[in-house]
Amino acid sequence: MRLITLKPDFYDMFSCVAGECEDSCCKTKWDIYVDKNTYRKYDKLAPSNIKLLIDKHIKKNKNAKTEKEYAKIDLGSNNQCPMLDEQGLCVIHKHLGEDYLNMVCFTYPRIFNYVDDILMKTVSISCPAASRIILRQKHPVEFELTEEEVNPKSLMSIICTKDSSRMLFRSFWDILKAAVSIIQNRKRNIKERLLILGMLIKSLNEEENKDNVSEERINIIIEKYLKISDENDNLNIYANIPDKPEVQVIMLKNMLDARSKLGVSSKEFAGFIDILFQTVSVEENGDVSVRKIKEAEYKYFEPFINDHDYMFENYIVNTMISKIFPFGEGTTCIDSYCMLVIRYALIKIIISGLAMYKGEINEETVIKIIQSFSKCIDHDQTFISRLLKELKEQGFNTLAYMAVLLK
Ligand code: SF4
Repeated sequence: MRLITLKPDFYDMFSCVAGECEDSCCKTKWDIYVDKNTYRKYDKLAPSNIKLLIDKHIKKNKNAKTEKEYAKIDLGSNNQCPMLDEQGLCVIHKHLGEDYLNMVCFTYPRIFNYVDDILMKTVSISCPAASRIILRQKHPVEFELTEEEVNPKSLMSIICTKDSSRMLFRSFWDILKAAVSIIQNRKRNIKERLLILGMLIKSLNEEENKDNVSEERINIIIEKYLKISDENDNLNIYANIPDKPEVQVIMLKNMLDARSKLGVSSKEFAGFIDILFQTVSVEENGDVSVRKIKEAEYKYFEPFINDHDYMFENYIVNTMISKIFPFGEGTTCIDSYCMLVIRYALIKIIISGLAMYKGEINEETVIKIIQSFSKCIDHDQTFISRLLKELKEQGFNTLAYMAVLLK
């Protein structure tokens, strides 16, 4: 089928390095489901070595909630896909062709969200090859609108905003465009851009709850914050934001509690988390740990980000596109925004902890941290939402507290 597609300029630069990959998606403890159609195709295969392999390792999933989860690949104790040959290549893809791949293996690391007749495409930073391309790109990401042939199997989500009863949702494209524009405005540093984005989302959220919410009012709010983002003057945004270590303590404690689970998809990420908690001991005194992290932020993270703003800009833009910001996560736009800031703040903590331990930080290590973070955290359906829930319970899900995390 031919569809209008919207894709970032780095999209076509990605290609899988397969057997050469240092953190392969085929050697990861993920749940790999096989949809019902694909499973039926396996059923009909003539007897062969591949058929034997498929029958041995792909089993019906008793807990399936949808046809997409009809069967599951049994990864075995080594967490490696049993369909790989000696060169690390997929035998289903090699011998049967991509039509026989399940949806995840067919698309990953590509992400396809079909919104209002436009297919939004991007690639996941959790893939090492994609992360290098995205995070090293120094110029602001540009988007291309084009028409392309698309396999219907690749459509991960189909969303229609036009008929929504929610006025704000009907303005999805204007809001996403403004959000990307604010995050890419290099007149301000990345923290200020994120904070102005938060001010926009807060205002939109408040507007949505008014009886007289209108498209015109939404556009006025968007214009207001685009203008603020574009002004040259220093807003001195951080002058009045106090240090509130309790928010960071929650972040650290959550990472500590989930330590063994978080690193399960990436040994490297497990190593980063271990180093972080060797450097700061949260159990003894949370405030002291936060102070140490703060010192490392000033000493290592701040100078690094001054020269590498583009890495975080590209990370945030790609996350917004992947997650259909600010509607794809949480129950409100504020939730989506908080989850964006939480991701940024967690990455900042891990980079700072590692830098403190090593006495330095460089671009390669930061790419590795962000890639493995995405692989472990973004593919865990619950970690960020649980963390947000805890912040909400303490009343920390406000713009003021998000500013504390950004500071
Ligand atoms: S993680 Fe990326 S580069 Fe590595 S095998 Fe998977 S798709 Fe290919």
